[in-house]
Amino acid sequence: MTDASTRELAQDALSSLADGVTLVNDAGRIVFMNPRAEELFGVHAGEWIDADAGKFFRALAKNSTVGDVLAARFAQQTVRARELPFLEFSLRTPREKVIQAKWFALQDANAYGVLWRDVTHEKEVDQMKNQLLSTVSHELRTPLASIKGFATTLLRSDVRWDEATQREFLRIIEEESNRLEELIDNLLDMSQVEAGALRIHREPVQLRRLVREAVENAQRRADSHWFVMDLPAELPRVWADPRRIGQVLNNILENALKYSPNGGQITVTCEIEGETVLTSIADQGEGIPRELLERIFDRFFQVDAASTRKTGGSGLGLAIAKGIVEAHGGVIWAESEAGQGSVFRFSLPIVNESDFLENQDIE
Ligand code: ADP
Repeated sequence: MTDASTRELAQDALSSLADGVTLVNDAGRIVFMNPRAEELFGVHAGEWIDADAGKFFRALAKNSTVGDVLAARFAQQTVRARELPFLEFSLRTPREKVIQAKWFALQDANAYGVLWRDVTHEKEVDQMKNQLLSTVSHELRTPLASIKGFATTLLRSDVRWDEATQREFLRIIEEESNRLEELIDNLLDMSQVEAGALRIHREPVQLRRLVREAVENAQRRADSHWFVMDLPAELPRVWADPRRIGQVLNNILENALKYSPNGGQITVTCEIEGETVLTSIADQGEGIPRELLERIFDRFFQVDAASTRKTGGSGLGLAIAKGIVEAHGGVIWAESEAGQGSVFRFSLPIVNESDFLENQDIE
């Protein structure tokens, strides 16, 4: 640095850096700490300027999840800055985070700097990706193992299966293939939801027709359930993608059947609420603990993963339903108490008829 203004400029640049920076002089004392470093470690630069860098590192190590091990690594790092460029550690306070530290030697042989990066978010995303991969592979593997098992059994040349058994095995293979197909469709929908790229083709839709179709569909699969539809005589049209909203209704109705194993009434209601139509689906099933009401809309979340394994389902249905309803500008939520049945509600915007007429004119 040649003059004062260059020095100031450099200091400004270091101060506004998104990463934390600490500079240590050749006597091992801290000479600079930028605001980001203060924020990361919850300290004031004033307290540490001119302090022994070793002391600062020991304070950090104490606050980390590995303590002495980190203190030793810090000491090593300081001596061999050029050889060990990276060090990663987790801090417990002020807020749990993962920090990546990068040493760099300064022109003056013994002086050095450390760049501190908060990589907590990257780590979380990595962890989520890994979890997603392992869940997905598990979910794909289960039906696949079944298909493979029954196909191999059928192909055995040393056993002759009677026709009824063959048909039964083929039926299972078909059922498991359908499950696999549904899962892959769900995963594709889910990835579109997450990328904010869910394609919906909205048009003015009569909810009455969609509700009726979905209920008829569910009725075919129900044995100990009965359905009640409570729709007002005059229901305004909503702006919706009929295929996607049909998917939401089918999913919620299927859950209503699945999670009320003792049967009972399933009521579908549509009512006008301001500028929206609110659709509610109420069952008399096992209900959902209050504290989990929001989490059931998270992907792969299941209240009782062990029992849903048996009933089928991957924990994606409601996450997709939420993505679809939100892409329509609507809201979806559940109301329930364990053992008291559940109500799922979602809103869709009513078509403003005058807007619609204007749009028609333009076309
Ligand atoms: P799944 O494929 O497991 O049904 P969903 O995303 O559709 O996945 O639902 C997530 C979880 O929410 C289910 O595993 C279940 O625990 C709970 N759930 C959904 N609908 C109901 C309901 N009507 N009654 C009780 N629990 C429900």
